[in-house]
Order: sequence, then C-alpha cells, then structure tokens
Amino acid sequence: MRVVAIGAHPDDVEIGVGGTVHRHVALGHPVTYLIATDGTAGCERDDAARRDEAQTAASVLGVDDVRFLDFEDTDLGDGGAVVSAIESHVTDCDPDRVYVHAAADTHQDHRNCARAAVSATRRDGDVFAYETYSTRPTFSPNHYVSLSAADVEAKLEAIRIHESQTGKTYMDEETIRGLARFRGNRVEATFAEAFEVVRSIDRFDGRG
Ligand SMILES: [Zn+2]
Repeated sequence: MRVVAIGAHPDDVEIGVGGTVHRHVALGHPVTYLIATDGTAGCERDDAARRDEAQTAASVLGVDDVRFLDFEDTDLGDGGAVVSAIESHVTDCDPDRVYVHAAADTHQDHRNCARAAVSATRRDGDVFAYETYSTRPTFSPNHYVSLSAADVEAKLEAIRIHESQTGKTYMDEETIRGLARFRGNRVEATFAEAFEVVRSIDRFDGRG
C-alpha cells in the first residue's frame, strides 16, 4: 500500500496522522509527505529551519520522502495552483491511500489545503480526513486506526522535533495522548487516530 499524507504546515501530518504513519512504516508501506507551506508565519525560525524540523520529524516516524510545495504560510489558497501542485506529486506517487486535513477547520490554511487536496486526489485511492487542534466540532469520525502505545510515543517524539512550536497549546503532550486514548476508547482499542472517510474504494484486485 502506497501512502501520501498532506498537510498545510510542517507539523500537521504528525499531529493528525503521526501514529498511523508510524504503523504504515512498520508494515512496509512507502509514505510520502506533501507540505503545502513552510509554516514560518508567527514563528522565530526561517524556512530552512522549519524544513529541517519537518524532515527530522518525518525520519523519526521512518519517512524519508518529504516534499515541500512552497506556498505562503497563512495565505494558502484552494484554487488551481495549489490543486495542480498537489496533483503532480500525487500522480507521481500513485497512492492507494491519502490522508488530508478535515475541511471543517478554523484555520484557513488547513481548510483550503483540505479542499485543494480533495480535488487533487479525485483519481487516487482512498482518502481519509484527519483531525488537528483546529478541526471544528462537526468532525464526525467514521474510520479509526488502532494504535499501540509505541505508535503514540513515536508520534509524540516526532512532534517534539518541532521545537519552533514549543509552548503552543496545541503541542501539549497530555492533550495529544489523551485524544489518542479517547479515540481508542470509542473502538475498544487502547489508542487510535480517528478519520472521516472522504472516499473509500474496494477494487478486489489484490493490490495493496
Ligand atoms: Zn497547521
């Protein structure tokens, strides 16, 4: 199974789907990150430092293929330029499964990234939407990935790499661990990450 995880900023993928990425890697699935902006707005670090953080955080989860789309932080659109940029990488990766932001999100970059990603992946595999700190309460998960404690700790270790974001409330480890525990509790698992199904396809052709 080939996997693409798309985020607006360098830390979004770890926060939304980091435990699941760790699980995919353990299963031998190639994973690619697409990061739409450099995430430097409101942050002391320059774009190179945040790229380094993103690359190192990905490597903690076993991911080497991190691709930056270089759109402007806080001003990401959802139109043709963003759709085309995502689509060219998705076509290159030919994923069986794609993770995107949930469209109902108070952060404009997350919201627009979700819209653009759903358009860009219209021909590709299963698409699942993940939650972050700014996902709206209407998020209604109908797909769960059961995680081990090791998956959650790897996720937290990856999130810690984003030192430029240290101190922001959404980086609080007890909140992240608690959410994983709560989502797991919903499905009789110790920990889980939760998703909304944007599209799920059964091909019954043995691929995956
Ligand atoms: Zn973000």
